[in-house]
Amino acid sequence: MQIPPLHRRLATMVGLCVLLLTASGFIPERPIDTNRQSKDELTFSPEPSPDVEVARAPLVENIEPPPAQVERRKTTVKNGDNMAMIFANNGFSARTLHELTQTEHGKVLADIFPGAGLTFESKKQQLTSLTYEPGPLERVVFKRNGDGEFASQEIFAEPEKVLTYKHGVINNSLFLTSQSLGLPDNLTMRLAQIFQWDIDFVLDIRPDDEFFALYEEHYLDGEFIGYGDILAAQFVNQGRSYTAVRYTNEAGAADYFDPDGLSMRKAFLRAPVEFSRISSSFNLRRKHPLYKTVRPHRGIDYAAPRGTPILAAGDGRVEQASRTKANGNYVVIKHGEQFVTKYLHLSKFARNIKAGKRVRQGQTIGYVGATGYATGPHLHYEFLVNGVHQNPRTVKLPQAQPVSPQEIKRFRERTLTSILLLDHFKDQAALALALGSRSATGLGSASR
Ligand SMILES: [Zn+2]
Repeated sequence: MQIPPLHRRLATMVGLCVLLLTASGFIPERPIDTNRQSKDELTFSPEPSPDVEVARAPLVENIEPPPAQVERRKTTVKNGDNMAMIFANNGFSARTLHELTQTEHGKVLADIFPGAGLTFESKKQQLTSLTYEPGPLERVVFKRNGDGEFASQEIFAEPEKVLTYKHGVINNSLFLTSQSLGLPDNLTMRLAQIFQWDIDFVLDIRPDDEFFALYEEHYLDGEFIGYGDILAAQFVNQGRSYTAVRYTNEAGAADYFDPDGLSMRKAFLRAPVEFSRISSSFNLRRKHPLYKTVRPHRGIDYAAPRGTPILAAGDGRVEQASRTKANGNYVVIKHGEQFVTKYLHLSKFARNIKAGKRVRQGQTIGYVGATGYATGPHLHYEFLVNGVHQNPRTVKLPQAQPVSPQEIKRFRERTLTSILLLDHFKDQAALALALGSRSATGLGSASR
C-alpha cells in the first residue's frame, strides 16, 4: 500500500505550510497551554525555535517547488479611463476582461468611476483575482476558481458608527457657525431642513440662537469616511426651542418627530422657494407698484434669480398650469378639500406639470421668472383656506402625520437613547457655560 508515505508527505507539506505561514505572521497567535504541549505541537507555535526550523529544513528538497508568487498591483481609476485601457496597461488580455464581464457582477466593470480602486492579483502573468472598490463600503471581487473560470462576489462593509455631538451659538450665520465647528455644509443643510417648517433660516435667525446636534460619523478600519444620520437635534430660535429626534418606523421609513411623536413636518412648506428674499409681503391695503392705487396684495412675493426652482408647498393635485396676461405662467394646486396654493409669474413649468397631475410636497413645479405683470423675476405665492386668502407666513399650518398610536410605544423605546444623550450633552454645555469654561464641553463647544 502506498498510502502511508503519501500520507506522511501530505502531513509534511501541511506542516511546512503552517511553518511558513506562522513565520510570516499569517496565523494569528493563539493561546497555548504550555503544560500540555506535545513535541508535535511545537511546530504550530507562532515563533518556532531554531531547532525546529533546522529539523524541518531538509524536507524542503523532497517536495515540488514552492507555488508561484502572487503578484499584486493596485491602481485607481482616473478620469477618462475605461477597463479595456486599464487591462492593457496592466498587461492583461481583452479576453480575460471579457470573461470577467460575463460573471454575475461583471456589469460593474462597464461603468467604472474615477477614484474607484482596482487590485489585480496574478500568478505567472495570469490574472487570479480582481477587486473593484467603487467606494469605501463596497467591493466586488472576481476570483478565478479551480476550473479556471471567474466567479464574482459583492461585499458590503458596515461602517463603524461613532456618535458625535456639536453645540453651536450663532453669531450671524448658521453656516459660518457650523463651519467654525468643523461641520460640513451638507450636514448643516440637513440640520436646517429638519427645522425648516418652524424656522425660516433666511429671515428668522438671530444672534445668540443656538443648536445642539447629535449625529453619527462613519469610520472604516479606523478611518473617517463620512457623516451618517442626525439622530437628534435641538434648535433655539429667538428664545423658543424646538427638539427633533429621528425615528425609523415599522415600515422602514425614517423621519423626524418631536419627543412626543408629532411630526416636525407640516403639511405645507412655509416658503415654496429656498433661500429667497421677500420683496413684498402679504398686505390687504397695499399701494400697487404698477397701478399706484390701493390694491390688496393677497400673497407674498419672493425675489429670487430667474430659473430658481419653485416647490409644491404640499402634496396635492395640479388644478391649473396655464397662462394669462396678468399672471404670466401660473400653477394652482389643490390640497384636499380646504387648501389651495397659487404660484405666479413662472419662467417655465417643470416637466409633467399639467392639470390633473399629482404632486408631492417639495417637488419642483416650475421656475422663477417675470412673466405677466411683474417688475422683475420673483414668485408671487398665494395660500387659500376654504377659498379665503391667508398670509402664508403666519397662517397656522396643519401638521403632517404623527407617529401612529399603534407605534408610539416602539417610538418611545427607540428614541429614548438619542433624547437622553442630547440632554446629557446639553447639560454639559450649560455646566461649562456656568463655570465660564466653554472648552469644557469638549467635543463641540461653539466659538462666538
Ligand atoms: Zn405679488
